[in-house]
Amino acid sequence: MLSHVRTSPATMFIIIVIFGIVAFAVLAVCERPVNVMSRTWTTTYLDNNATTPCFDQVISCVANSTRAFYANPSSMHKAGQRSRAELERCRSVMRNLVKASNYGIVFTSGATESNNLAIRSIITDYITASGKLNATVITTPMEHPSVYETLKSLPAVRVHMLSVSPIGLLDLDELNDALKDETVAMVCVTMANSEIGTIQDVASIAQACRAAYVHCHLDMTQVFGRYNVSLNQLRADTVTMSAHKFHGPKGVGALFYTLTRPPPTPCTTGGKQEQGLRGGTENVPGVAGMALALQLCADGLARDGAAERMTRLLQGIKVGIQGIVPDVVFRGGVPDVDGYHGLYQTVSVVLPARASQLAAELSNLNVFVGVGGCACSKGQHSMTLEAIGASQEEMWRTMRISLGFMNTDRDVGRFLKCMRVAMARIEHVETHRLETRSE
Ligand code: PMP
Repeated sequence: MLSHVRTSPATMFIIIVIFGIVAFAVLAVCERPVNVMSRTWTTTYLDNNATTPCFDQVISCVANSTRAFYANPSSMHKAGQRSRAELERCRSVMRNLVKASNYGIVFTSGATESNNLAIRSIITDYITASGKLNATVITTPMEHPSVYETLKSLPAVRVHMLSVSPIGLLDLDELNDALKDETVAMVCVTMANSEIGTIQDVASIAQACRAAYVHCHLDMTQVFGRYNVSLNQLRADTVTMSAHKFHGPKGVGALFYTLTRPPPTPCTTGGKQEQGLRGGTENVPGVAGMALALQLCADGLARDGAAERMTRLLQGIKVGIQGIVPDVVFRGGVPDVDGYHGLYQTVSVVLPARASQLAAELSNLNVFVGVGGCACSKGQHSMTLEAIGASQEEMWRTMRISLGFMNTDRDVGRFLKCMRVAMARIEHVETHRLETRSE
């Protein structure tokens, strides 16, 4: 006769908990490559120059702000005025954080819009004021598409492209020579390149522009949040920022403009928001998230040694890669170790294999890295790599690793383990392909 075993709810609960713990422990200790695939709950994100994951506090802040500051900041009622006050509070927080008391701030949808606003308005103002039909813009071949595509789209603009060294630095003598041209309306330079991390000497660039009475626009998208910045000291005329590059929300950014010159002319038509420079109802929750993210990064740099930690992690990655792929070449990297002035959390790796193939294998293992050009160019072609003399074939073999505030030693360990697996798979596929070809 069958007898029923009666289990009390408490016993059932204990059994379920024990089962859960055992299952978790089994998954956690299964570190052999074959099991890496099954650990879909773990991801290693090393593509922070494309975008960064939002800080949890920022996600909560955006949600709370969406609830609290739903009213239109232009509305005259009390709810509207509360939204207006919040917007101005954030403007003041941001101005303090990047030491920009001499600057106005226009909140935008991100760096693409900020670059567009700066370039289009400065060119319009120059042509109106000078009565000339054309304007020259001095720039580099290492700019983001939001700079060079905007310049290309303006029929009145003649682009003066500066050359760059094999590590991506522009030549200040060449810049000074170019500034002698009387038709120069502005200089547009990206302070830190997103692909190889090169940091330009922007203080000298801004100084050269001032001496020539030429507008200096800096795209500092990859700098904010990662370094302590003083815009008052730098004294560029306009500066671009984007929140999603420093663990803030996507679709929000800023253009800083010096108060020592007339403000830029708006380049879109609409309402009179943002000091008349950018029409459209303001994104208060996004701006609140951006201000908080910038504050958290500043705290991380000042109190938690975030920059030193990322520098150490990147060095671990480079040493680890060398152990797996002996013929590897690094571009960019860690300033103190390589004597190279570049972003401390970015390295461009030239591999002996096709980078897109390796990145796909890594992606299957939930490890995410960048490939070739910047993410916005969909990895197709890299103006930056071309400018520093890389061949097309080298571009295909280039992988980018860029760290963020959330990366840990565990990510380094996991990346290297998966890299070993991915390289072995590529070699296996390649051997198989050669064997079947010779049959
Ligand atoms: N400038 C630089 C230097 C960038 O790295 C990026 C993002 N890849 C942008 C501009 C565009 O930023 P957003 O996505 O905010 O428009």
